[in-house]
Amino acid sequence: MKIAVVGGGISGLVAGFDLAKAGHEITVFEKDHVLGGLCACFRLEGTYLEKYYHHFFTSDQAIIDLFEQLGLSPLVEWRTSLTGVYYDGHAYPFGGPVDLLRFKPLPMADRLRLGFAIMRLRKIDDWRPLEEITAKDFIVREMGEKVYRVLWEPLLRSKFGDKAESVAAVWFWGKIKLRGSTRTKSGSKELLGYLRGGLGLAIDELAKQITERGGRVLTSSPVERIAVDGDKIQVTSLQGVDHFDRLVFTGAPSLFASLCDDLSDDYRQRLQSVHYQGTTCLVLKTKQSLSNIYWLNINDLNMPFVGIIEHTNYRSPQEYGGYRVIYVTRYLDPNNRLYSLDADELFEEYKPHIKRIFPHFDPAAVQERFIFKDAFTQPVIRLQYSRQIPDFTTPLPGVCLASMAQIYPEDRGSNYGVVMGHKASEWIKKSL
Ligand SMILES: Cc1cc2nc3c(=O)[nH]c(=O)nc-3n(C[C@H](O)[C@H](O)[C@H](O)COP(=O)(O)OP(=O)(O)OC[C@H]3O[C@@H](n4cnc5c(N)ncnc54)[C@H](O)[C@@H]3O)c2cc1C
Repeated sequence: MKIAVVGGGISGLVAGFDLAKAGHEITVFEKDHVLGGLCACFRLEGTYLEKYYHHFFTSDQAIIDLFEQLGLSPLVEWRTSLTGVYYDGHAYPFGGPVDLLRFKPLPMADRLRLGFAIMRLRKIDDWRPLEEITAKDFIVREMGEKVYRVLWEPLLRSKFGDKAESVAAVWFWGKIKLRGSTRTKSGSKELLGYLRGGLGLAIDELAKQITERGGRVLTSSPVERIAVDGDKIQVTSLQGVDHFDRLVFTGAPSLFASLCDDLSDDYRQRLQSVHYQGTTCLVLKTKQSLSNIYWLNINDLNMPFVGIIEHTNYRSPQEYGGYRVIYVTRYLDPNNRLYSLDADELFEEYKPHIKRIFPHFDPAAVQERFIFKDAFTQPVIRLQYSRQIPDFTTPLPGVCLASMAQIYPEDRGSNYGVVMGHKASEWIKKSL
Protein backbone atom coordinates (compact mmCIF):
# COMPACT_ATOMS: atom_id res chain seq x y z
CA MET A 1 0.00 0.00 0.00
CA LYS A 2 1.12 3.54 -0.71
CA ILE A 3 1.10 5.58 2.48
CA ALA A 4 1.82 9.29 3.01
CA VAL A 5 3.10 10.57 6.33
CA VAL A 6 2.81 14.33 6.75
CA GLY A 7 5.41 15.58 9.25
CA GLY A 8 8.97 14.38 9.69
CA GLY A 9 9.04 14.87 13.47
CA ILE A 10 9.58 11.91 15.78
CA SER A 11 5.98 10.70 15.57
CA GLY A 12 5.84 10.83 11.76
CA LEU A 13 9.19 9.08 11.37
CA VAL A 14 8.24 6.34 13.84
CA ALA A 15 4.92 5.79 12.03
CA GLY A 16 6.80 5.69 8.71
CA PHE A 17 9.39 3.28 10.13
CA ASP A 18 6.74 0.88 11.50
CA LEU A 19 4.80 0.92 8.22
CA ALA A 20 7.93 0.54 6.06
CA LYS A 21 8.85 -2.52 8.14
CA ALA A 22 5.38 -3.92 7.46
CA GLY A 23 6.16 -3.72 3.72
CA HIS A 24 4.33 -0.52 2.75
CA GLU A 25 5.55 2.11 0.34
CA ILE A 26 6.14 5.22 2.46
CA THR A 27 6.51 8.89 1.58
CA VAL A 28 7.28 11.25 4.45
CA PHE A 29 6.65 14.92 3.72
CA GLU A 30 8.43 17.42 5.99
CA LYS A 31 7.96 21.12 5.40
CA ASP A 32 11.16 22.17 7.15
CA HIS A 33 14.60 21.79 5.52
CA VAL A 34 15.66 19.36 8.26
CA LEU A 35 13.93 16.36 9.80
CA GLY A 36 13.03 15.99 13.47
CA GLY A 37 10.35 18.63 14.09
CA LEU A 38 10.72 19.80 17.69
CA CYS A 39 13.38 17.10 18.22
CA ALA A 40 15.48 18.45 15.32
CA CYS A 41 19.16 19.18 15.83
CA PHE A 42 21.79 21.40 14.31
CA ARG A 43 25.55 20.91 14.22
CA LEU A 44 27.57 22.66 16.90
CA GLU A 45 31.32 22.09 16.76
CA GLY A 46 30.65 18.99 14.66
CA THR A 47 28.15 17.41 17.09
CA TYR A 48 24.38 17.30 16.90
CA LEU A 49 22.72 19.60 19.42
CA GLU A 50 18.95 19.82 19.89
CA LYS A 51 17.42 23.13 18.75
CA TYR A 52 15.35 22.91 21.91
CA TYR A 53 16.91 21.44 25.09
CA HIS A 54 15.95 17.77 25.44
CA HIS A 55 16.35 15.05 28.03
CA PHE A 56 14.20 12.06 28.91
CA PHE A 57 13.04 10.25 32.01
CA THR A 58 13.62 6.70 33.27
CA SER A 59 9.91 6.01 32.75
CA ASP A 60 10.09 6.99 29.03
CA GLN A 61 9.93 3.36 27.96
CA ALA A 62 8.80 3.88 24.35
CA ILE A 63 11.77 6.02 23.38
CA ILE A 64 14.17 3.79 25.32
CA ASP A 65 12.82 0.81 23.32
CA LEU A 66 13.16 2.80 20.09
CA PHE A 67 16.84 3.53 20.80
CA GLU A 68 17.29 -0.21 21.38
CA GLN A 69 15.60 -1.06 18.07
CA LEU A 70 17.79 1.46 16.23
CA GLY A 71 20.98 0.08 17.81
CA LEU A 72 21.57 3.31 19.73
CA SER A 73 21.20 2.02 23.32
CA PRO A 74 24.96 2.17 24.03
CA LEU A 75 24.72 5.94 23.54
CA VAL A 76 22.00 6.44 26.15
CA GLU A 77 23.45 8.00 29.30
CA TRP A 78 21.74 8.71 32.63
CA ARG A 79 22.96 11.47 34.89
CA THR A 80 21.87 13.57 37.81
CA SER A 81 21.84 17.33 37.43
CA LEU A 82 21.08 20.44 39.42
CA THR A 83 17.73 22.19 39.08
CA GLY A 84 17.06 25.65 40.46
CA VAL A 85 14.49 28.37 40.87
CA TYR A 86 15.29 32.07 40.45
CA TYR A 87 13.03 34.05 42.75
CA ASP A 88 13.26 37.58 44.12
CA GLY A 89 16.86 38.10 43.05
CA HIS A 90 18.25 34.72 44.15
CA ALA A 91 18.87 31.37 42.45
CA TYR A 92 17.84 28.56 44.82
CA PRO A 93 18.65 24.88 44.24
CA PHE A 94 15.36 23.04 43.80
CA GLY A 95 15.99 19.41 42.96
CA GLY A 96 14.56 17.35 45.82
CA PRO A 97 13.11 17.16 49.32
CA VAL A 98 16.17 18.67 51.02
CA ASP A 99 16.17 21.69 48.69
CA LEU A 100 12.46 22.13 49.34
CA LEU A 101 13.01 22.18 53.10
CA ARG A 102 15.68 24.87 52.61
CA PHE A 103 13.62 27.01 50.19
CA LYS A 104 13.51 30.30 52.11
CA PRO A 105 10.96 32.24 50.01
CA LEU A 106 8.24 30.07 51.58
CA PRO A 107 7.52 29.82 55.33
CA MET A 108 8.36 26.38 56.76
CA ALA A 109 4.67 25.49 57.15
CA ASP A 110 4.15 26.10 53.42
CA ARG A 111 7.24 24.08 52.49
CA LEU A 112 5.89 21.11 54.45
CA ARG A 113 2.40 21.53 53.04
CA LEU A 114 3.88 21.66 49.53
CA GLY A 115 5.97 18.53 50.11
CA PHE A 116 3.00 16.51 51.39
CA ALA A 117 0.74 17.77 48.59
CA ILE A 118 3.29 16.66 45.98
CA MET A 119 3.53 13.23 47.61
CA ARG A 120 -0.28 12.91 47.52
CA LEU A 121 -0.43 14.09 43.90
CA ARG A 122 2.11 11.48 42.78
CA LYS A 123 -0.06 8.74 44.26
CA ILE A 124 -3.14 9.76 42.25
CA ASP A 125 -3.87 7.35 39.38
CA ASP A 126 -7.42 8.40 38.53
CA TRP A 127 -6.89 11.74 36.81
CA ARG A 128 -10.55 12.20 35.75
CA PRO A 129 -11.58 14.45 38.69
CA LEU A 130 -8.59 16.67 37.85
CA GLU A 131 -10.21 17.52 34.52
CA GLU A 132 -12.91 19.43 36.36
CA ILE A 133 -10.70 21.91 38.22
CA THR A 134 -8.09 24.37 37.00
CA ALA A 135 -4.46 23.90 38.01
CA LYS A 136 -4.63 27.27 39.77
CA ASP A 137 -7.66 26.39 41.92
CA PHE A 138 -6.27 22.93 42.65
CA ILE A 139 -2.87 24.27 43.73
CA VAL A 140 -4.36 27.02 45.91
CA ARG A 141 -6.67 24.45 47.54
CA GLU A 142 -3.98 21.82 48.16
CA MET A 143 -0.87 23.96 48.72
CA GLY A 144 -2.04 27.45 49.61
CA GLU A 145 -2.06 30.85 47.90
CA LYS A 146 1.57 31.70 48.66
CA VAL A 147 2.93 28.47 47.21
CA TYR A 148 0.90 29.16 44.08
CA ARG A 149 2.20 32.73 43.74
CA VAL A 150 5.86 31.93 44.43
CA LEU A 151 6.29 28.61 42.65
CA TRP A 152 3.52 27.54 40.32
CA GLU A 153 1.98 30.71 38.90
CA PRO A 154 5.29 31.61 37.20
CA LEU A 155 5.56 28.04 35.87
CA LEU A 156 2.02 28.08 34.47
CA ARG A 157 2.49 31.56 33.01
CA SER A 158 5.84 30.54 31.54
CA LYS A 159 4.18 27.70 29.63
CA PHE A 160 0.77 29.08 28.80
CA GLY A 161 1.00 32.90 28.99
CA ASP A 162 -2.40 34.55 29.32
CA LYS A 163 -4.09 31.14 29.02
CA ALA A 164 -2.42 29.96 32.26
CA GLU A 165 -5.49 30.27 34.46
CA SER A 166 -7.58 28.10 32.16
CA VAL A 167 -5.16 25.14 32.25
CA ALA A 168 -6.61 22.03 33.93
CA ALA A 169 -5.09 20.38 36.99
CA VAL A 170 -4.53 17.23 34.89
CA TRP A 171 -1.64 18.94 33.13
CA PHE A 172 -0.04 19.83 36.47
CA TRP A 173 -0.59 16.30 37.78
CA GLY A 174 1.07 14.84 34.66
CA LYS A 175 4.15 17.03 35.11
CA ILE A 176 4.56 16.27 38.82
CA LYS A 177 3.98 12.54 38.39
CA LEU A 178 6.43 12.25 35.49
CA ARG A 179 9.22 14.14 37.17
CA GLY A 180 8.68 12.15 40.35
CA SER A 181 9.19 8.94 38.41
CA THR A 182 12.73 9.70 37.29
CA ARG A 183 14.75 9.79 40.47
CA THR A 184 17.79 7.99 41.81
CA LYS A 185 17.08 4.99 44.06
CA SER A 186 17.34 7.13 47.20
CA GLY A 187 14.76 9.51 45.69
CA SER A 188 16.89 12.52 46.55
CA LYS A 189 17.96 13.44 43.00
CA GLU A 190 16.48 13.53 39.54
CA LEU A 191 17.96 11.17 36.94
CA LEU A 192 17.83 12.44 33.36
CA GLY A 193 18.66 10.63 30.13
CA TYR A 194 20.36 11.89 26.97
CA LEU A 195 21.43 10.32 23.71
CA ARG A 196 25.15 10.99 23.43
CA GLY A 197 25.73 12.68 20.08
CA GLY A 198 22.21 14.18 20.02
CA LEU A 199 18.70 13.07 19.08
CA GLY A 200 19.66 13.83 15.47
CA LEU A 201 21.33 10.38 15.42
CA ALA A 202 17.96 8.70 16.06
CA ILE A 203 16.20 10.95 13.53
CA ASP A 204 18.83 10.10 10.86
CA GLU A 205 18.58 6.39 11.62
CA LEU A 206 14.77 6.40 11.33
CA ALA A 207 14.98 8.17 7.95
CA LYS A 208 17.68 5.73 6.80
CA GLN A 209 15.59 2.70 7.79
CA ILE A 210 12.61 4.06 5.83
CA THR A 211 14.65 4.80 2.68
CA GLU A 212 16.45 1.42 2.87
CA ARG A 213 13.01 -0.19 2.61
CA GLY A 214 12.22 1.75 -0.54
CA GLY A 215 10.48 4.73 1.12
CA ARG A 216 10.99 8.42 0.38
CA VAL A 217 11.75 10.98 3.08
CA LEU A 218 11.32 14.47 1.67
CA THR A 219 12.42 17.68 3.36
CA SER A 220 11.45 21.23 2.30
CA SER A 221 8.22 19.63 1.12
CA PRO A 222 5.19 21.23 2.74
CA VAL A 223 1.91 19.51 1.99
CA GLU A 224 -0.48 22.17 0.75
CA ARG A 225 -3.72 20.26 0.27
CA ILE A 226 -5.25 16.91 1.25
CA ALA A 227 -8.40 15.73 -0.53
CA VAL A 228 -10.28 12.53 -1.19
CA ASP A 229 -10.24 11.49 -4.84
CA GLY A 230 -12.36 8.35 -5.37
CA ASP A 231 -10.82 5.63 -3.20
CA LYS A 232 -7.48 7.46 -3.08
CA ILE A 233 -6.12 10.37 -1.05
CA GLN A 234 -4.80 13.18 -3.17
CA VAL A 235 -1.83 15.06 -1.73
CA THR A 236 -0.64 18.34 -3.20
CA SER A 237 2.85 19.38 -2.20
CA LEU A 238 5.83 21.19 -3.69
CA GLN A 239 6.57 17.86 -5.39
CA GLY A 240 3.29 18.12 -7.32
CA VAL A 241 0.15 16.00 -6.94
CA ASP A 242 0.34 12.37 -5.84
CA HIS A 243 -2.18 9.74 -4.75
CA PHE A 244 -2.04 7.46 -1.71
CA ASP A 245 -4.08 4.67 -0.13
CA ARG A 246 -3.67 6.00 3.40
CA LEU A 247 -2.34 9.14 5.09
CA VAL A 248 -1.11 10.03 8.59
CA PHE A 249 -1.02 13.71 9.56
CA THR A 250 1.22 14.52 12.56
CA GLY A 251 1.11 18.36 12.67
CA ALA A 252 -1.26 20.46 14.77
CA PRO A 253 -5.02 19.80 14.27
CA SER A 254 -5.62 23.40 13.12
CA LEU A 255 -2.98 22.93 10.39
CA PHE A 256 -4.77 19.77 9.26
CA ALA A 257 -8.04 21.75 9.09
CA SER A 258 -6.36 24.38 6.92
CA LEU A 259 -5.27 21.77 4.34
CA CYS A 260 -8.57 19.96 3.83
CA ASP A 261 -11.50 21.51 1.94
CA ASP A 262 -14.02 18.74 2.58
CA LEU A 263 -14.64 19.08 6.33
CA SER A 264 -17.89 19.92 8.10
CA ASP A 265 -17.99 23.24 9.96
CA ASP A 266 -18.40 21.37 13.27
CA TYR A 267 -15.34 19.19 12.76
CA ARG A 268 -13.24 22.09 11.47
CA GLN A 269 -14.19 24.13 14.53
CA ARG A 270 -13.27 21.24 16.81
CA LEU A 271 -9.80 21.08 15.25
CA GLN A 272 -9.34 24.83 15.44
CA SER A 273 -10.38 24.99 19.08
CA VAL A 274 -7.22 23.15 20.15
CA HIS A 275 -4.81 26.00 20.94
CA TYR A 276 -1.04 25.79 21.06
CA GLN A 277 1.65 28.00 22.53
CA GLY A 278 4.78 28.72 20.51
CA THR A 279 8.41 28.86 21.62
CA THR A 280 11.38 31.06 20.88
CA CYS A 281 14.67 29.65 22.06
CA LEU A 282 18.01 31.45 22.00
CA VAL A 283 21.07 29.19 22.07
CA LEU A 284 24.39 30.65 23.16
CA LYS A 285 27.78 29.12 22.44
CA THR A 286 29.99 30.81 25.00
CA LYS A 287 33.33 30.55 26.75
CA GLN A 288 31.72 31.29 30.13
CA SER A 289 29.65 29.21 32.50
CA LEU A 290 26.84 31.08 34.25
CA SER A 291 26.49 28.75 37.26
CA ASN A 292 26.56 25.07 38.17
CA ILE A 293 22.77 24.76 37.70
CA TYR A 294 21.56 22.79 34.67
CA TRP A 295 17.95 23.95 34.66
CA LEU A 296 16.99 27.29 36.19
CA ASN A 297 13.30 28.20 36.22
CA ILE A 298 12.88 31.95 36.19
CA ASN A 299 10.09 32.62 38.68
CA ASP A 300 9.97 36.34 37.99
CA LEU A 301 7.10 37.56 35.86
CA ASN A 302 9.09 40.69 34.90
CA MET A 303 11.77 38.70 33.08
CA PRO A 304 11.34 38.25 29.32
CA PHE A 305 12.34 34.55 29.43
CA VAL A 306 11.25 31.66 31.63
CA GLY A 307 14.20 29.31 31.74
CA ILE A 308 17.97 29.26 31.47
CA ILE A 309 19.20 25.79 30.67
CA GLU A 310 22.95 25.38 30.83
CA HIS A 311 23.21 22.20 28.81
CA THR A 312 26.94 21.85 29.54
CA ASN A 313 26.20 21.51 33.25
CA TYR A 314 24.57 18.23 32.27
CA ARG A 315 26.74 17.26 29.30
CA SER A 316 30.48 17.87 29.15
CA PRO A 317 31.66 21.02 27.32
CA GLN A 318 34.23 18.71 25.63
CA GLU A 319 31.37 17.38 23.46
CA TYR A 320 31.11 20.90 21.98
CA GLY A 321 34.76 21.83 21.46
CA GLY A 322 35.15 23.04 25.06
CA TYR A 323 32.40 25.66 24.72
CA ARG A 324 29.49 26.14 27.10
CA VAL A 325 26.02 25.76 25.63
CA ILE A 326 23.18 27.76 27.17
CA TYR A 327 19.54 27.84 26.13
CA VAL A 328 17.47 30.90 27.07
CA THR A 329 13.89 29.99 26.44
CA ARG A 330 10.40 31.37 26.34
CA TYR A 331 6.98 29.91 25.49
CA LEU A 332 4.72 32.54 23.94
CA ASP A 333 1.94 33.35 21.57
CA PRO A 334 3.42 33.80 18.07
CA ASN A 335 1.77 37.26 17.98
CA ASN A 336 4.06 38.34 20.81
CA ARG A 337 6.67 40.90 19.68
CA LEU A 338 9.54 38.73 20.97
CA TYR A 339 8.57 35.97 18.54
CA SER A 340 9.50 38.17 15.59
CA LEU A 341 13.02 39.00 16.85
CA ASP A 342 16.13 37.42 15.32
CA ALA A 343 19.03 36.01 17.37
CA ASP A 344 20.91 39.33 17.66
CA GLU A 345 17.82 41.32 18.57
CA LEU A 346 16.71 38.79 21.18
CA PHE A 347 20.22 38.63 22.62
CA GLU A 348 20.25 42.42 23.02
CA GLU A 349 16.84 42.25 24.71
CA TYR A 350 17.86 39.44 27.07
CA LYS A 351 21.40 40.65 27.94
CA PRO A 352 20.55 43.02 30.84
CA HIS A 353 18.20 40.44 32.34
CA ILE A 354 20.78 37.64 32.20
CA LYS A 355 23.20 40.06 33.87
CA ARG A 356 20.70 40.78 36.63
CA ILE A 357 20.55 37.08 37.44
CA PHE A 358 24.27 36.43 36.89
CA PRO A 359 26.19 39.72 37.46
CA HIS A 360 29.42 38.10 36.16
CA PHE A 361 27.79 37.35 32.77
CA ASP A 362 30.09 38.61 30.01
CA PRO A 363 28.33 39.07 26.65
CA ALA A 364 31.74 39.25 24.95
CA ALA A 365 32.33 35.60 25.90
CA VAL A 366 29.45 34.58 23.64
CA GLN A 367 30.99 33.32 20.41
CA GLU A 368 27.84 32.42 18.48
CA ARG A 369 24.10 32.69 18.99
CA PHE A 370 21.29 30.83 17.29
CA ILE A 371 17.56 31.20 17.40
CA PHE A 372 14.90 28.56 16.90
CA LYS A 373 11.17 29.14 16.99
CA ASP A 374 8.01 27.28 16.26
CA ALA A 375 4.37 28.31 16.62
CA PHE A 376 3.11 24.83 17.62
CA THR A 377 5.09 23.57 20.59
CA GLN A 378 2.71 23.09 23.54
CA PRO A 379 -1.00 22.28 23.36
CA VAL A 380 -3.06 24.19 25.93
CA ILE A 381 -4.80 21.60 28.11
CA ARG A 382 -8.10 23.10 29.22
CA LEU A 383 -10.84 21.77 31.54
CA GLN A 384 -12.51 18.55 30.32
CA TYR A 385 -9.90 18.17 27.62
CA SER A 386 -10.70 14.48 27.11
CA ARG A 387 -13.97 15.60 25.51
CA GLN A 388 -12.23 18.03 23.15
CA ILE A 389 -9.42 15.82 21.83
CA PRO A 390 -9.87 15.02 18.16
CA ASP A 391 -10.02 11.32 17.32
CA PHE A 392 -7.41 9.44 15.26
CA THR A 393 -10.18 8.71 12.77
CA THR A 394 -11.02 11.74 10.63
CA PRO A 395 -14.03 12.28 8.34
CA LEU A 396 -11.68 11.69 5.36
CA PRO A 397 -11.61 7.93 4.67
CA GLY A 398 -8.14 6.44 5.20
CA VAL A 399 -6.78 9.60 6.84
CA CYS A 400 -5.47 9.44 10.41
CA LEU A 401 -4.74 12.45 12.63
CA ALA A 402 -1.95 11.73 15.14
CA SER A 403 -0.81 15.01 16.67
CA MET A 404 0.86 16.12 19.88
CA ALA A 405 -2.51 17.54 20.99
CA GLN A 406 -3.87 13.99 21.26
CA ILE A 407 -1.37 12.98 23.93
CA TYR A 408 -3.35 12.88 27.14
CA PRO A 409 -3.48 12.80 30.15
CA GLU A 410 0.34 12.93 30.03
CA ASP A 411 2.04 16.09 28.83
CA ARG A 412 3.54 15.95 25.37
CA GLY A 413 7.18 14.83 25.04
CA SER A 414 9.43 12.91 22.67
CA ASN A 415 8.56 9.60 24.39
CA TYR A 416 4.87 10.19 23.72
CA GLY A 417 5.74 11.24 20.16
CA VAL A 418 7.09 7.70 19.72
CA VAL A 419 3.90 6.28 21.29
CA MET A 420 1.84 8.45 18.92
CA GLY A 421 3.82 7.15 15.91
CA HIS A 422 3.16 3.53 16.95
CA LYS A 423 -0.54 4.25 17.51
CA ALA A 424 -0.82 5.88 14.06
CA SER A 425 0.81 2.92 12.35
CA GLU A 426 -1.52 0.53 14.23
CA TRP A 427 -4.52 2.62 13.11
CA ILE A 428 -3.36 2.38 9.47
CA LYS A 429 -2.72 -1.38 9.68
CA LYS A 430 -6.17 -1.98 11.18
CA SER A 431 -7.80 0.16 8.49
CA LEU A 432 -6.36 -1.94 5.65
C1 LIG B 1 11.32 23.95 24.07
C2 LIG B 1 10.99 22.49 24.04
C3 LIG B 1 11.64 21.63 24.90
C4 LIG B 1 11.30 20.28 24.90
N1 LIG B 1 11.96 19.46 25.76
C5 LIG B 1 11.67 18.15 25.76
C6 LIG B 1 12.38 17.27 26.61
O1 LIG B 1 13.26 17.68 27.37
N2 LIG B 1 12.04 15.95 26.58
C7 LIG B 1 11.08 15.47 25.75
O2 LIG B 1 10.85 14.26 25.74
N3 LIG B 1 10.38 16.27 24.94
C8 LIG B 1 10.65 17.60 24.92
N4 LIG B 1 9.97 18.43 24.09
C9 LIG B 1 8.80 17.91 23.37
C10 LIG B 1 9.15 17.12 22.12
O3 LIG B 1 10.11 17.80 21.35
C11 LIG B 1 7.87 16.93 21.32
O4 LIG B 1 6.88 16.35 22.14
C12 LIG B 1 8.07 16.02 20.12
O5 LIG B 1 9.22 16.35 19.40
C13 LIG B 1 6.83 16.13 19.23
O6 LIG B 1 7.00 15.33 18.10
P1 LIG B 1 5.88 15.26 17.00
O7 LIG B 1 6.42 14.47 15.87
O8 LIG B 1 4.60 14.80 17.59
O9 LIG B 1 5.59 16.77 16.56
P2 LIG B 1 6.55 17.79 15.80
O10 LIG B 1 7.94 17.63 16.24
O11 LIG B 1 5.90 19.11 15.92
O12 LIG B 1 6.46 17.27 14.28
C14 LIG B 1 5.45 17.64 13.41
C15 LIG B 1 6.10 17.91 12.08
O13 LIG B 1 5.09 18.17 11.10
C16 LIG B 1 5.63 19.09 10.18
N5 LIG B 1 4.52 19.66 9.42
C17 LIG B 1 3.45 20.37 9.88
N6 LIG B 1 2.65 20.72 8.86
C18 LIG B 1 3.19 20.20 7.72
C19 LIG B 1 2.83 20.21 6.34
N7 LIG B 1 1.72 20.85 5.91
N8 LIG B 1 3.63 19.57 5.46
C20 LIG B 1 4.76 18.93 5.85
N9 LIG B 1 5.17 18.91 7.15
C21 LIG B 1 4.39 19.52 8.07
C22 LIG B 1 6.34 20.08 11.09
O14 LIG B 1 7.28 20.86 10.39
C23 LIG B 1 7.01 19.14 12.10
O15 LIG B 1 8.30 18.78 11.70
C24 LIG B 1 10.30 19.78 24.03
C25 LIG B 1 9.68 20.64 23.14
C26 LIG B 1 10.02 21.99 23.14
C27 LIG B 1 9.34 22.92 22.19
